[in-house]
Amino acid sequence: MIFKVPRGTFFIPTILTYSLPLLSLRMHNYEIEEYFTLLAKLMDIHGENEFKIKSYSNAAYTLDKLTEPVSDMSPSQLFAIRGIGEAIGKKIQEIIATKHLALLDEYVQKTPPGILEMLKIKGLGPKKIVTIWKELEIESIGELLYACEENRLVKYKGFGEKTQKNIQDALHFYLQHQGNYLYEEVESLATSLQKSLDAEFPNEQHIISGAFKRQLESLECLDVVTTLSEINLTNWLESKMFKLEKNEDFLSCKGEDNFEIRWHLATPENFFWKDFTLSGSPEFILAWEKLPQFKTEPFKTEQSIFDQVGIHYIPTPQREYAEIIGLAATKTLAKTIQPTDIKGIIHSHSTWSDGIHTIEQMAVAAKAQGFEYLIISDHSKSAFYANGLQADRIVAQHKEIDVLNKKLAPFVIFKSIESDILNDGSLDYPDEVLASFDIVIASVHSNLKMTEEKAMMRLLNAISNPYTSILGHPTGRLLLSRKGYPVNHEVLIEACAEHNVVMELNAHPRRLDMDWRYIQKAIEMDVLISIDPDAHAIEGFDDCKYGVLVAQKAGLTAANNLSSFSLAEMMEFIEYQQAKRP
Ligand SMILES: [Zn+2]
Ligand SMILES: [Zn+2]
Repeated sequence: MIFKVPRGTFFIPTILTYSLPLLSLRMHNYEIEEYFTLLAKLMDIHGENEFKIKSYSNAAYTLDKLTEPVSDMSPSQLFAIRGIGEAIGKKIQEIIATKHLALLDEYVQKTPPGILEMLKIKGLGPKKIVTIWKELEIESIGELLYACEENRLVKYKGFGEKTQKNIQDALHFYLQHQGNYLYEEVESLATSLQKSLDAEFPNEQHIISGAFKRQLESLECLDVVTTLSEINLTNWLESKMFKLEKNEDFLSCKGEDNFEIRWHLATPENFFWKDFTLSGSPEFILAWEKLPQFKTEPFKTEQSIFDQVGIHYIPTPQREYAEIIGLAATKTLAKTIQPTDIKGIIHSHSTWSDGIHTIEQMAVAAKAQGFEYLIISDHSKSAFYANGLQADRIVAQHKEIDVLNKKLAPFVIFKSIESDILNDGSLDYPDEVLASFDIVIASVHSNLKMTEEKAMMRLLNAISNPYTSILGHPTGRLLLSRKGYPVNHEVLIEACAEHNVVMELNAHPRRLDMDWRYIQKAIEMDVLISIDPDAHAIEGFDDCKYGVLVAQKAGLTAANNLSSFSLAEMMEFIEYQQAKRP
């Protein structure tokens, strides 16, 4: 089956909704039951009296088994039911009369929306949610998914590796139904779709266009431009059990994960122009159509669209803003960074903190994959949830690295730390400990809910610390799920320029933080970017690619990216950074 977004092969969990049926006048037992089910779960989450919780879950159970509708019953009939009684009977009357239950409203009020949402996730009951909320201090689905990916749940009671995997799968499923998808989630679908179209209809033209071709970090749907006729497309899709729906400008179908594919029918004459207009941003296309030489004529190649207006080629990812057209009018655009330009792995975690693999396993794999160095930056001591390193463990880790470096030369493992930026903006160790690292990455991991003033104070303090070399994931955002703390990017970039600090482009497909939209400003200010995978396992190295894809959008070149430095250049960089230290 080709139209399946990977990772989403699960049944829809019993979704518990606190919905108020507005149309039906008579309430069904199961609708009333939902109020009590949710009430019992929320009371459990808030640590209420067990007997009370039991009475509400019993009421839900009784309602489920009851064959007669309670809304038809007299009060005396209702109160006489075993498992209901007068107190709960009155609550049922309240629900029937008002479609509300005041007690439930109270609990809903005092529960963060993200925690309520977690109740919709298969496999997450009140007990687990309490641990997630109170011990891991996680309040949203996206944060929870990230914690699973960082292997953080397994350290808590009730969460084995298998449970963590099940939760992770259920979360993926849930998120995929929210209408937006990460680039990485639809990538294999896009690739396999292109392949099957080319294989089955080699005499027609097809291209995956739209936001995907522009390499946006998240997208709503896949746009396909094809010269297939409507009837051939319909038959082909029907043979694969997909139904096409007609819209004004396109045909669409949905895969089993509810992900939409839009089909744009083209002729050989307008194929390239259609792809061009669909894959460029609206701002870019509008500016293009205003060019004095512009007219739509049949284009035989993509290049001829550029030739017609006398403008140098602009790669699709860069077709975002109008300004790029002016730039390409005057000169050939610089070659942007490619995945093969990544020479070393910067920002990785080992079993010393919350990683899956040992330093040796990570280093051997990095070397085998052709990287010249590995920068191990485990968590610092305040990240206790991630088994952050106390000073004595740092000494031991450095000894291990020294031994490995002898063994793996000329490959080099650099000693680094991902130091928490504390509440006041200071780093997590005294200077003498910080001095033992080749490189310090400074990141915010705690108290993420803050005003811009507070966030900027913490970040600017960290940037001006002479031990800081790289600012890690500058906003803490998780795409599609956590906005990140508010920052003024311009001011951050200026501070990094002043203090010779590199800004990370965290390449995890759910982070992609810093946002590529600010990279151009950083380049102008001579601030280096570092595309870092933040790898918690060997497989994490592959994420570098997603950082590269968004960096291309901003026109980043290999020369402006720290992880493209060769080993010799990296050594020079470290020397230069260490000269900053007192
Ligand atoms: Zn981090
Ligand atoms: Zn990290």
